[in-house]
Amino acid sequence: MTPEPFPNPAPRPRLAALWRGLKRRCPRCGEGALFAGYIRVETACGNCGQVLEGHRADDAPPYFTILVVGHIVFSGVLIGETTIAPPLWLHLGFWLALALGLSLFLLPRFKGALIGLQWSLCMHGFGSSRDGQP
Ligand SMILES: [Zn+2]
Repeated sequence: MTPEPFPNPAPRPRLAALWRGLKRRCPRCGEGALFAGYIRVETACGNCGQVLEGHRADDAPPYFTILVVGHIVFSGVLIGETTIAPPLWLHLGFWLALALGLSLFLLPRFKGALIGLQWSLCMHGFGSSRDGQP
């Protein structure tokens, strides 16, 4: 009988990890910073030592950001145009500023939540013996 390459890690709280990631904190302890900059992920948590470089967020955070911001802005433009009908310069200024601000706000949070989800599901580099888990 061949042993498993890695022992099954302890269960990880999914919602707590999502929430911690959403707050841009380490998905394991919730205390250490998840990002070294705006969206550059730390190599390891400064508080608990969890290795964080195993994540594979890739294109999912921008996808979810565009999905949410696009729905809010596009529906806002349509509702605003049919009800208030402001001048074009006001439409352009308001909705572009809102889209930019929302995107900058949501992108690191979605990336953190996705990293938290990957950690809780032991995906990619978070399920191996080198991810800092006992
Ligand atoms: Zn930590």
